[in-house]
Amino acid sequence: MTERDWDDAVRLLDHADEVALLCHVGPDGDALGSMLGLGAALRGKGVTVVASFGDERMSVPSSYAYLPAQDLLVKPEDFPAAPALLVTFDTGSADRLGSLADRLETAGTTLVLDHHASNTRYGTVNLVEPAAAATAVVVAELLDRLGLPLTAEIAAPLYTGLVTDTGSFKYAATTPAVHELAARLLATGIRHDLISRSIWDTASLSYVRLLGEVCARAQLDPAAARGLGLVWTSVRAEDLSRHGLALSDVEGVIDVVRTAVEAEVAVVLKEDPSTGLLRVSTRSKGAVDVGAVCVGLGGGGHRFAAGYTSSEDVDATLARLTSALQAAPHLAA
Ligand code: 5GP
Ligand code: MN
Repeated sequence: MTERDWDDAVRLLDHADEVALLCHVGPDGDALGSMLGLGAALRGKGVTVVASFGDERMSVPSSYAYLPAQDLLVKPEDFPAAPALLVTFDTGSADRLGSLADRLETAGTTLVLDHHASNTRYGTVNLVEPAAAATAVVVAELLDRLGLPLTAEIAAPLYTGLVTDTGSFKYAATTPAVHELAARLLATGIRHDLISRSIWDTASLSYVRLLGEVCARAQLDPAAARGLGLVWTSVRAEDLSRHGLALSDVEGVIDVVRTAVEAEVAVVLKEDPSTGLLRVSTRSKGAVDVGAVCVGLGGGGHRFAAGYTSSEDVDATLARLTSALQAAPHLAA
């Protein structure tokens, strides 16, 4: 990412009267937060803004219900057919835009804001910073360069992106600059305690019960990843329906499974009730580049947190993944 890329992005947004925003399907806190944060800031300077994501049923997960500026969201069918300026957030590849991926062909200009190392640079202008802890960090820098002030309405979504993608400031990408940005965001008066409680510390009893079930049947394959070990479990559509839960409710299962010290790699296979396809979440502790493994299987992500979609059944998906892990080199500590 060069100064030229920043200048191009600033020029695009400075001159736009209308902007259409998209984040990836099954959005997490960074996808929604970076999108709504920039959306609120642009609206504040008089730009007409719409935002969406290409899920069959576009709904914001309940853990992000507090996010401001959700009135910018329109249903996929109401999203402009040929936006003059399209901006995408936290979306490493075109397919992750789901049913709205076709707008990449009809948009006049596309600006890509992201931090995935696997980003395929599908935009006209690509602001992709793999070292950034979150796409929200890229957006915050862009707002500074646009000379737009941080308000609480902008800060709450950006803080959401920052806290989500750093795992509450725990992961390695949490630099001094990340804490300095967090301080600026908190200084706007946002209720970070309520944000964190909603994201991390609020769940239904149904979820707690489902978590117990799927964790109880987790399997360990100590020989996988050339002896570093794999722990995995699955969440079937039947589990979701029995507990009255949606796919977006079980995003956090991987965070419990990955704590198993016996395995370098953790995997959760989640059956999407609307498509029957398996969403595969992978995590590693630092010795295996699961991002590269997932790119090889048609997905993407970060080195130690990545995913893909499989159209095979659980057994075939695991077999293919296990053989890809066997071929993956071990990284130096
Ligand atoms: P999660 O396991 O939480 O769904 O995703 C982990 C990371 O991998 C996130 O940064 C997410 O954006 C990325 N990721 C997950 N699935 C896919 C996929 O199918 N394609 C790409 N390009 N990235 C993915
Ligand atoms: Mn994301």
